[in-house]
Amino acid sequence: MRPPERWPLHPAPAATESLSSWLRRTAASYGMYSYQLLEHGLGHRELSDAELDLNPPLHLLDELAKRTGLDHHRVHAMTMSGWVPWLFDSLAPAPDSYDTYVHQLSVLLPPARRQIYTPRKWLPWLPESGVLRACRECLESGPTILLFWQLPLMASCPAHRRRLETYEGHPADYISWATPAHDQREPPESLIALDRRTWQAITTGSVDLPRRSVHAGVWFRLLRTLLDELSTPQGRYGRQLEDVRRVWDHCGHPFRAGLHSWQPFESLRWTRQQQLLEAAAALMAMIEDGTLTALGTSAHLLRPEPSRPISDGTPPGSLTGTPGGQKQPTLDELWNQATTTLDACIAAAKTDPVVAKHLFDFARYGCRSEESVLCLRDTFAELQIPLDFLSQTEGDEPFA
Ligand SMILES: [Zn+2]
Repeated sequence: MRPPERWPLHPAPAATESLSSWLRRTAASYGMYSYQLLEHGLGHRELSDAELDLNPPLHLLDELAKRTGLDHHRVHAMTMSGWVPWLFDSLAPAPDSYDTYVHQLSVLLPPARRQIYTPRKWLPWLPESGVLRACRECLESGPTILLFWQLPLMASCPAHRRRLETYEGHPADYISWATPAHDQREPPESLIALDRRTWQAITTGSVDLPRRSVHAGVWFRLLRTLLDELSTPQGRYGRQLEDVRRVWDHCGHPFRAGLHSWQPFESLRWTRQQQLLEAAAALMAMIEDGTLTALGTSAHLLRPEPSRPISDGTPPGSLTGTPGGQKQPTLDELWNQATTTLDACIAAAKTDPVVAKHLFDFARYGCRSEESVLCLRDTFAELQIPLDFLSQTEGDEPFA
């Protein structure tokens, strides 16, 4: 049977369903295969599932929108190209794409300690080999394949609290899971929390972090930054090496996911990618509960609010010094001002014990244990700020 120009039957796409999955379900309602549907009147029988989901011709997306009455953006969002610039800067690799995507932010390590890599023809998240992954329980309710299952972006299904599993076949016809259901390990709570945030980014466009929500684009780059920091050669960790070892021990995986030489996350096998995602989740949880001190410039996004309001010790400089009548600064502008002020404050604290003490007192508000005060002392030492003033106040409580 040949479908008419405007298809009367077209199942609604599920949230974040891939184009190939939706076309397969649409074709099935005419008793056809999707390549037959693509051939009739659309002239694109040759496109594979991977090509349909990555970057299909725009005129094909327009045609599909017309035939189904769906909005063009809705159709486009079923492909990776519909996620430029949120998830990808571009789908055309550029010489500096890794640097631009992965090194703008830093969480665990101070920027100066990062090794700058420039892999050729690199694109974030797109794996070199097509592994089929899905949530077993999601597929039990219907053969709908999500676009993001194709990427090593999440390792669990937050809705069903299950690990994503690899399989072979086409879910509508037959499916062969790589691991028997009873062999599945439960995902750790930290991984579910991480994947829940990624899912929030995908479905709502922003993510709620302890201090404020961030745009989905920031979240994807922040997560990719953590994965890069955890793949760093161990000589780069300096005094943070023990912390990083704690993260891997906690997960029960080999240090650096067993990598002997650096490779971008995207070209690793799924087993190693899962281990890195689990380590990123554990690292994030440790930063949030204060058991690990992160020294990157974006680490503040993961730290909880100070446990009591700041009554004094306000940092020098105004963060909102806009003259009346002018438009309010954006959060990014405010943050730039704050980091500039902090840099100036750190520079002054290196030579002025009074500034150093104010800075220490201010930072100490976020410390809820003696251990975190000790970490703060280490951070000051690392920043080369003398802690001489502490000897005059040693009788004080170590933390408030
Ligand atoms: Zn599921």
